[in-house]
Amino acid sequence: MSTTLSERLTQELNSLREGGLLIHPRVLERANRARTRVDGREVVNLASNNYLGFADHPALKAKAESYLREWGVGAGAVRTIAGTLSIHEALERQIADFKHTGSALVLHSGFTTNQGVLGALLREGDLVVSDELNHASIIDGLRLTKATKKVFKHADVDDLDRVLSENDSEGLKLVVTDGVFSMDGDVAPLDRLVAVARKHGAVTYVDDAHGSGVMGAQGRGTVHHFGFEYADDVIQVGTLSKAWGGVGGYAAGHGDLRQLLINRARPYLFSTAQAPATVGALSAALEEVQRDPGLMERLWDNTRYFKAELHTLGFDTMGSVTPITPVVFGEAPAAFEASRRLFGEGVFAVGLGFPTVPRGSARIRNIVTSEHTKDDLDHALQAYAKVGRALGIIGG
Ligand code: PMP
Repeated sequence: MSTTLSERLTQELNSLREGGLLIHPRVLERANRARTRVDGREVVNLASNNYLGFADHPALKAKAESYLREWGVGAGAVRTIAGTLSIHEALERQIADFKHTGSALVLHSGFTTNQGVLGALLREGDLVVSDELNHASIIDGLRLTKATKKVFKHADVDDLDRVLSENDSEGLKLVVTDGVFSMDGDVAPLDRLVAVARKHGAVTYVDDAHGSGVMGAQGRGTVHHFGFEYADDVIQVGTLSKAWGGVGGYAAGHGDLRQLLINRARPYLFSTAQAPATVGALSAALEEVQRDPGLMERLWDNTRYFKAELHTLGFDTMGSVTPITPVVFGEAPAAFEASRRLFGEGVFAVGLGFPTVPRGSARIRNIVTSEHTKDDLDHALQAYAKVGRALGIIGG
């Protein structure tokens, strides 16, 4: 007899429960800001990707409202049918100008952008070499292609060189890396990665989900930070859902990239375009980051302050150099317990354990934003000191 739906659901949920992997997301009862209300509690929020406080920013809301009034609630169709509004095209020009690239295309999310771009670009016979810690959407995107896939050790340029020396292809060769790694907060060594890629005639593909709006002058991204923004052999993709405050993804690079994606990227071809209010918010975000230098200053001042104080307390932040600040607790149960206790102290920060991160480096991932005040960060640091001592992670 075949499996019933009830049987399948019970089996799957039980296996997750037994592995301690069943997820119960906490619920935010107000907007996703530096201080918010979660599951009935006022908290300092260190769990969001809202790097520049754009998720609930007045300038973004004003432009979103005006686009909503003028353009309605939905784009009405897939873009190739009748869903390409002039505001979508204007946003793409804005992104290409901001990123200093030949072209840019906007998609529905960072996740679908990786699927769309990798799927559109790669063919059988091509070679892709991907950092072992790349994001799940890259891994899924690569699964959609018939290219030969190889992995190099995380941020290890010599290993990349070895893999490219041992595997050749007559087709396109693509080196794929995150710009900023979402779990460790480290930055890909793009200067050396691009040099090795070029030595082997390979193109570099950077997923800058956590670098766009964070790295580089005015948040232009990791590719800009390393000075490759005009390079035709570097493709940047990313999300518009983290620092940029809305939802969506972009791909930017070579002048012909956009045209190819319009014709080949399946999410572009088969999924309805972004809502006008979202487009308005994103357009305002790009204006605002260039108008208000205080946003980036506060983001990086807060980042430096929070890390320095955590180090003084004796915590290990894994050498992270970006606003993503992991605090190591060892094994998963300790990290989850710390997260629970921090929540009790009014700090919302998520514990991550195996398989999301390697065994032995279970951690709490904190993301500092421009919106946190010194009081917010001091509150969090006091909570960390208390919880870290109680769990024996730090001394004193
Ligand atoms: N790439 C990376 C590196 C990410 O961290 C994320 C977000 N989790 C994504 C892609 C997906 O972006 P989005 O949330 O816009 O789908």
